[in-house]
Amino acid sequence: MLGQMQSQPLLISALIVHAERHHASGEIISRRVEGDIHRSSWGQVARRARQVARAIDATGLPFGSRVATLAWNGYRHLELYFGVSGTGRVLHTLNPRLHPEQLVWIVNHAEDSALCFDMTFLPLVQAVAAKCPTVKHWVALCDADKLPADSGIPGLTSYEAWIGGHSDAAYNWPEFDENSASSMCYTSGTTGNPKAALYSHRSTLLHAYGAALPDALGCSARDSILPVVPMFHVNAWGLPYSAAAVGCKLVFPGPALDGKSVYELIENEKVTMAAGVPTVWQMLLGHMQQNNLRFSTLKRTVIGGSACPPAMINAFNDTYGVEVLHAWGMTEMSPLGTVCTLKNAQTQLPPEEQLKVRLKQGRAVYGVDMKIVDDEGRELPWDGKSFGDLLVRGPWIIASYYKGEGGDPLRYDEHGKGWFPTGDVATIDPDGFMQITDRSKDVIKSGGEWISSIDVENIAMAHPAVAMAACIGMKHPKWDERPIVVVVKKPGASVTREELLAFYEGKTAKWQIPDDVVFVDAIPLGATGKMQKMTLRQQLKDYALPTA
Ligand code: AMP
Repeated sequence: MLGQMQSQPLLISALIVHAERHHASGEIISRRVEGDIHRSSWGQVARRARQVARAIDATGLPFGSRVATLAWNGYRHLELYFGVSGTGRVLHTLNPRLHPEQLVWIVNHAEDSALCFDMTFLPLVQAVAAKCPTVKHWVALCDADKLPADSGIPGLTSYEAWIGGHSDAAYNWPEFDENSASSMCYTSGTTGNPKAALYSHRSTLLHAYGAALPDALGCSARDSILPVVPMFHVNAWGLPYSAAAVGCKLVFPGPALDGKSVYELIENEKVTMAAGVPTVWQMLLGHMQQNNLRFSTLKRTVIGGSACPPAMINAFNDTYGVEVLHAWGMTEMSPLGTVCTLKNAQTQLPPEEQLKVRLKQGRAVYGVDMKIVDDEGRELPWDGKSFGDLLVRGPWIIASYYKGEGGDPLRYDEHGKGWFPTGDVATIDPDGFMQITDRSKDVIKSGGEWISSIDVENIAMAHPAVAMAACIGMKHPKWDERPIVVVVKKPGASVTREELLAFYEGKTAKWQIPDDVVFVDAIPLGATGKMQKMTLRQQLKDYALPTA
């Protein structure tokens, strides 16, 4: 027997319709590329999202076409979030920190039809445009009078001219299957070429509900939320969608992520909750300590993407009275998996015991199930000691990558249920708090962004003097991890540290170039000839990264 309830597909357009009807005056504040502060509202975002929708309809791009963005966090990006996905086209947020060649590869793989970019990225777009034949529409996110006359980009139009030619009157957002693709994000968090998570309207809306729950990110209409986490990195952890659902104020930092700018924004816009990776908070805390500053409105900060150091939790909590929500997730998980909010009994624990809990990555948000397994796939106990591969399942976790790249990623249990292997190694305690102890995937995360060890090794191996190269991550106080490359030279060949580092120039993004080269006689190999990076890391336990 079927239930007799209204059946409405879960669509992203419903979020912006709701935000406009119920929170039209809710503020949307953005620091722009030009440096000034722009003030908008949910009502205005909704009106301009309708103009975006009509502008896209006018291009004739078919349903499901990919519309890419290369943009900072800001109001125009937010309008594209709703305008593009709302019409059934797929919003593809590109990571501007990638090397131009990596971007070209991704744009071609995604077969993007249109690309909208902030003016900061004009030189980057000029460098890649000719190599992106699928892109037929280039849009600069600026006023018409800021458009460069001779950009060299065919048919380049300004965003304001593009949407300005279309009405913001009522628009009949199309209704379609809620499982249709809404947006996509590539990740190099696994080996090989980048792969994309292709989110659906349904997964995005369920995630928006789950993330907003009080024990998750706890978003409410009374909040002023600052997503420092980029809108090109897993949709700023889904915050734009949860924000539209609850109608809170949103504050966007644009390109200015330094401590001073972020602090000023928090104070001026009375931010109550901010979200970002540890590197950003390191810069903010450094600025505050140097200038003896305090927060007057900030209550919570969500820290994730990399493990949050204990000193950071203490500084926020003890010095500034701000609660840290340590969170864990992945691009493949939309991204939220766990958040570390205490259970009732734990609030009675002494502060040092509470800190031990807060350092964990947290407990599962409803909608996500998780388990740890041994090498044979057998589930391990939740005793806080046994550690194993962390597997997850739920309606906002990928079933496969875009275009089926990499085959079926899931591991199936005895009931035939598919679990996604996260590449993280973890413990789970009897209260259900998960703690990451290691990473089984061969990647390095620096300042919240991935560096593929394989790419770093392949470049070194292309040098004529290199016989073998292993890239490993080393702890870094600001960037969390930095790569170094450990090299065995070919017999009789010679290359210096400086020569090898210079060899990386132009072959990868600058921040993906290793910090150091360590020459060794041999790299430890396993029985199958695979490099034993754990052993290598142990061998280099006394190594210190160069400080400059
Ligand atoms: P991404 O797909 O770029 O969001 O990266 C997801 C990966 O980042 C996870 O699989 C973890 O390896 C790592 N990660 C994310 N959050 C945390 C955290 N709170 N602590 C430790 N590692 C984290």
